[in-house]
Amino acid sequence: MNAAWIKTTAQELGFHLVGIASAERPPEADFLQEWLRKGFAGEMTYLSRNVEKREHPRLLFPPARSIIVCGLSYHSRTDETERISPQPIGQISRYARGADYHHVLKEKLFALLHLMQADTPRPIVAKVCVDTAPLLERACAKSAGLGWIGKHGGVINPRYGSWCFLGEILVDFECEYDTPMKDGCGACTRCLDACPTGALIAPYTLDARKCLSYLTIEHRGVIPETLRPALGNCVFGCDRCQEVCPYNQQADAPGLAEFLPRESLKHLSLEWLATLSEHDFPHIFADSPILRTGWRGLLRNTAVAIGNSHDRDLLPVLRQLSRSPESLIREHAEWGMTRLLS
Ligand code: SF4
Ligand code: SF4
Repeated sequence: MNAAWIKTTAQELGFHLVGIASAERPPEADFLQEWLRKGFAGEMTYLSRNVEKREHPRLLFPPARSIIVCGLSYHSRTDETERISPQPIGQISRYARGADYHHVLKEKLFALLHLMQADTPRPIVAKVCVDTAPLLERACAKSAGLGWIGKHGGVINPRYGSWCFLGEILVDFECEYDTPMKDGCGACTRCLDACPTGALIAPYTLDARKCLSYLTIEHRGVIPETLRPALGNCVFGCDRCQEVCPYNQQADAPGLAEFLPRESLKHLSLEWLATLSEHDFPHIFADSPILRTGWRGLLRNTAVAIGNSHDRDLLPVLRQLSRSPESLIREHAEWGMTRLLS
């Protein structure tokens, strides 16, 4: 199948980035086992479960010969203006302020697959992946020429920075492949210097156990006390290493409607979050990546953020949280009260 036609069609469907790589084992797979062995994945045990499949796309999907990698920027200029708020608000990572990207990307990838199928007489055997499949998607994106893997671990494209979602179609045919891009980080270390917890222990190496994105989203238990002050007002994720990246500061901001920050998420008051009920949580955050942290996780993070807020007017809501039947929430609320009063 013609690679140029696939790319033009993907762009017509709205993808900002598209490239094609051979479905080989990417060189980055060499580092995965070592990273897991060192315990840097924390509680993300699912990463070890399918490690062989993760290392080689053809073990995940034996018919795969090529990987079409597509990228969609979620960057919009409203992200900058909303940060200027004097209220004690909870900060949500940029990628999670709009609609759930899984649905948006899957719809576009399946549309691309259907158009490809309509253009060729033989049936295409294919697998569509968005984030959840055991695939080294950043390594695939690099191989497909979408960008290089930056020292903060994200894929950087010179035009769109690292504010991009990635999705892949594994297909059973060979075609013309793209060339990986040269690393553009050079001597820069801004992301490593900006990380408040030292989670980027070396260029290109993340210890997830110290990362605020991991701790506020994936981690289900207690947030280590030593790391709680660094959380600041983050209640879901952390963008600090990305925000300082020079490529992100000058990145194009297409402002796709699906990913524009929802009004309700622009100024998420900590007081309101602290009173959110378990019943309301899935309704309010339906079709949002925020569902991933769960109600307990969000209230745990909120208790820490209030503790960091220096706003003693919020003591009554923390006191209320410290009477929660959930021990996880209680423990973090008690820590928050102590911090506010200290
Ligand atoms: S997301 Fe935050 S905590 Fe994690 S590496 Fe980046 S700056 Fe550090
Ligand atoms: S901040 Fe600098 S070192 Fe870090 S990813 Fe961006 S360019 Fe690379």
